[in-house]
Amino acid sequence: MDYKVIKKDISKLKVKPNLFDYEEVYKNFKWEDVAKNFEGLPNGGLNIAHEAIDKHANGPLADKTALIWIGKNSQREEYTYKDIKRESNKFANILKDLGFEKGERIFMYSPRVPYLYITAIGIFKNRCVMSPLFAQFGPEPVAQRMVSGNAKGLITTKHLYEKKILQIIDQLKELKYIFLIDVDEDINDKVLSLPKLMKNASEEFEIPPTDPEDMSLLHFTSGTTGKPKGVIHVHKAIYTHWVTGFYVLDFHEDDIFWCTADPGWVTGTSYSIISPWLHGITNVVYEGEFDAQKWLEILQNEKVTIWYTAPTAIRRFIRYGIEPKKEYDLSNLRHALSVGEPLNPEGVIWGVEKLGIPIHDTWWQTETGGIMIANYPSMDIKAGSMGKPIPGVEANIFIRDDNSIKEAKTEESGNLMLKKGWPSMMRGYLHMEEKYQKSFVDEWYDSEDIAYKDEDGYFWFVGRNKDIIKTSGHMVGTYEVESALMEHPAVAEVGVIGKPDPIAGEIVKAFVALKKGYEPSKNLEKELIALGRKKLGAAIAPKEIEFIDSLPKTRSGKIMRRLLKAKELGLPLGDTSTLEK
Ligand code: ATP
Ligand code: MG
Repeated sequence: MDYKVIKKDISKLKVKPNLFDYEEVYKNFKWEDVAKNFEGLPNGGLNIAHEAIDKHANGPLADKTALIWIGKNSQREEYTYKDIKRESNKFANILKDLGFEKGERIFMYSPRVPYLYITAIGIFKNRCVMSPLFAQFGPEPVAQRMVSGNAKGLITTKHLYEKKILQIIDQLKELKYIFLIDVDEDINDKVLSLPKLMKNASEEFEIPPTDPEDMSLLHFTSGTTGKPKGVIHVHKAIYTHWVTGFYVLDFHEDDIFWCTADPGWVTGTSYSIISPWLHGITNVVYEGEFDAQKWLEILQNEKVTIWYTAPTAIRRFIRYGIEPKKEYDLSNLRHALSVGEPLNPEGVIWGVEKLGIPIHDTWWQTETGGIMIANYPSMDIKAGSMGKPIPGVEANIFIRDDNSIKEAKTEESGNLMLKKGWPSMMRGYLHMEEKYQKSFVDEWYDSEDIAYKDEDGYFWFVGRNKDIIKTSGHMVGTYEVESALMEHPAVAEVGVIGKPDPIAGEIVKAFVALKKGYEPSKNLEKELIALGRKKLGAAIAPKEIEFIDSLPKTRSGKIMRRLLKAKELGLPLGDTSTLEK
């Protein structure tokens, strides 16, 4: 295997990492020991809102900034832990007074404004279930998810209500109330002004006893490989959020953390709401969409110390030739991470060279509720590898044959599976019991990602099960091919698919988007095919290259290879609700 290693010298790190010795911590870790970081409710049980907000608001962190909110027009607001406690208490009272009961689902369909974060905590307090949607969704995807999720409440804006919700309102039969975050007066007796309700709501709220197994979140998957699935999570998931915040994100008390994800995607709830607040640190939220200069300004001006983003953002910086370190003072930034898609070695190296620190890849899914495999501040990075399982999680590679599994050999590709029982494991797929059952074989959860483990225990992503290409008897992972082409200086993004072929079964076809300043040409095509052959060998190298302006992606920035394939073959596109437009 050919990869670059980013050596870590712990003595050079700005702060001592929480995970000092991976092997030692992994060996001795017990989930029971994590409980000591939680206070528990005074009247029993475990509730996210208490551990994330009230606990701090009742103690020495009361006046510490919990949320720095930056609006899309550069407005800036700060909220302390005490503020979030008070405001979320008000919303919990509103829900309670309107008769919302334990387990009822409240959907969020709103841009990233402070109310989104405040009401999330209020929802947990009243033991309702939060279900976040992307504000850019059209009416159909919203209706689909709200109907299947039995939505009882909705938090949204006047604009979204008028333009998107009104036309689907007849389908939302169980909906009791809609809360509009930006109107001063009620529209009618069901469509209410949230600011008005908040003005009159009591600031005191006692969280009722909450069972750690009570449902907290209903999250829809990204829809990268097909129709999005509803995933059920419980309050106990905070065990994972705490542990990963500590060991992977490496939270220390003075950190200023920015996770760029929208709560419409699981990263935006687990890591842009819950995990940083469990650790009592300052959390940055930016309302606007990706904008390279604005993002770098935020990193600089807010003195962000830890940054959690996605490969799609890194690729954009690369594409436009932006050199953050040269243009901005990023001296406060000490740790950077990414999730959502494989981080090609180019991305890791770009971090080292242009940002001043490597980007640490992390792997997880909506179903896992939190980070499962990661690179750590104290551990050498093998550029292109996802790293090693978090303490408390056993991961392994198996060859799965329907209901039986066989452990794969070192470096042999197979299904990436996780030993059942980590606290943030999904408790079910919504209305898909059979699919849920099939996700497990014996004691193992099957992620449906293909990966392998090397001799040092590092995991390497190969591709999603559904995207694996079968060409002339070879099983080809998308990641390897995409990473090889990414090495060409002209290439910004690549998505590969298997294109049916009468002789080979499938051939590898690559769709390539170029960096600023490069133009498609026959010569470039030849160069890319040659590079593929050199790096991968003739059997695996792409046989066809097509240049396109940009690849179809989900709103969370994941390349939708199924759409590339459907278009290539002239097939129906399937569910495109999460497609970025
Ligand atoms: P759907 O299940 O609806 O097709 P999705 O799988 O993209 O969508 P998510 O749960 O948001 O929905 O994403 C999880 C998937 O994202 C993983 O199974 C994996 O394929 C991919 N992924 C996430 N992080 C990484 C990573 N670091 N390296 C490689 N792949 C990753
Ligand atoms: Mg998935």
